[in-house]
Amino acid sequence: AEAFNAAVAAARSLNAFTVETPELALAAADAADAARASGELKPLSGIPLGIKDLFATKGVDSTAGSKILQHFKPTYESTVSGNLKAAGAGMLGKLNMDEFAMGSSNETSAYGPVISPWKRNDGGNAALTPGGSSGGSAAAVAAGIAPGVTGTDTGGSIRQPAAFTGISGIKPTYGRCSRWGIVAFASSLDQAGPMARTVRDCAIMLEAMAGFDAKDATSLNLPVPQWEAGLSADLRGKKVGIPKEYRIDGVPEEINAIWDQGIEWLKDAGAEVVQISLPHTKYALPTYYIIAPAEASSNLARYDGVRYGLREMGVKSLDDMYAATRADGFGAEVKRRIMIGTYVLSAGFYDAYFTKAQKVRTLIKRDFTEAFRDCDFILTPTAPSAAFGLQEKMSDPLAMYLNDVFAVPASLAGLPAMSVPGGLDSQGLPLGIHLIGREMDEQGVLNAGLAIE
Ligand code: GLN
Repeated sequence: AEAFNAAVAAARSLNAFTVETPELALAAADAADAARASGELKPLSGIPLGIKDLFATKGVDSTAGSKILQHFKPTYESTVSGNLKAAGAGMLGKLNMDEFAMGSSNETSAYGPVISPWKRNDGGNAALTPGGSSGGSAAAVAAGIAPGVTGTDTGGSIRQPAAFTGISGIKPTYGRCSRWGIVAFASSLDQAGPMARTVRDCAIMLEAMAGFDAKDATSLNLPVPQWEAGLSADLRGKKVGIPKEYRIDGVPEEINAIWDQGIEWLKDAGAEVVQISLPHTKYALPTYYIIAPAEASSNLARYDGVRYGLREMGVKSLDDMYAATRADGFGAEVKRRIMIGTYVLSAGFYDAYFTKAQKVRTLIKRDFTEAFRDCDFILTPTAPSAAFGLQEKMSDPLAMYLNDVFAVPASLAGLPAMSVPGGLDSQGLPLGIHLIGREMDEQGVLNAGLAIE
């Protein structure tokens, strides 16, 4: 009992969960026993999963990492978490995250940062970030607390934390997983996906999560492929594209070394390597940081103190109530995004920023279409660094945004993309390998991931 309590305390010290719901996980385990007895086991019967706190879960606090949604208990279940439940899974709890999924280090959460279970091998004890925004998700899997979790990825929030913690995570094609019941950040970019220890576990989870949903206007009306059954690490006949624009100055040599290692592994699996060009890559980050805040500023207008969560009292007028609630309820990063978004959408600047960004987004998408004439999938590093220390980048938003440099192009193009563990750096920290596939070709991405794993 002592060892058990110590393990629980160690797990809790990571601050990966905002709410624990062991009773729901146990109920699913009981249901799985009954299902086994009657021969009716489902794909995820009894599997205890963590759910990112961006997903609305019926009757269970769903905060999106924000004070403005503290104690908000939805009366409905998100389609994706509902799909997992219907496949037999139980919920261990809700996972901590950057506020409204805005961040790359989980430090913008109103519920405190998540601590990575990893440490540098320098003998020190410096607390490292698990990445973000799905930081609680990544930490829970990496620490062995949950075998699988949900994440969401708007500009890298599944892939970068997966890379930082040595696990796998896939962002499917935009539209594969319903956004219904997921708190909206940037609606044209947001996608749910699984994070787990292995590529196979990701395939199994994604099959349960995905599928057409009439309640999401951008949901893909396509059958869900049998990704797990289709797994194969034999890449003979496949071409892997290496984009020259991803070799950028200032990226540590160790990151490029792991990238080269990934190329060798894919060759060993039978793939042919081709050099490709994605010429608009350098515009992806500025494009993303116009479009995502623009959509966020619109989506976050609904938090007015009337409909959900927090409401500041003792004010003189309705306008004062809105202002006081939003001033108190939103954190600094969310306010920064609302201001950037409002600015780029304002009458005088709309064409110069928002329209321009939409045009560049089209060019970035076109780059990929061109590249996929010459290759079947693309291989890059997931992030330009290993996990950094808490507080290291919090005072410099631009340094934080730069960490998304390799992840955002695939988001802007709506393409499936995955991070799988590539190896450890000289500090003993995991580095991720990033695979980007053609639209709807999650299978190709998963298979390439399997060949690397
Ligand atoms: N780090 C990026 C941002 O802060 C991406 C976040 C995400 O994918 N949710 O916007």
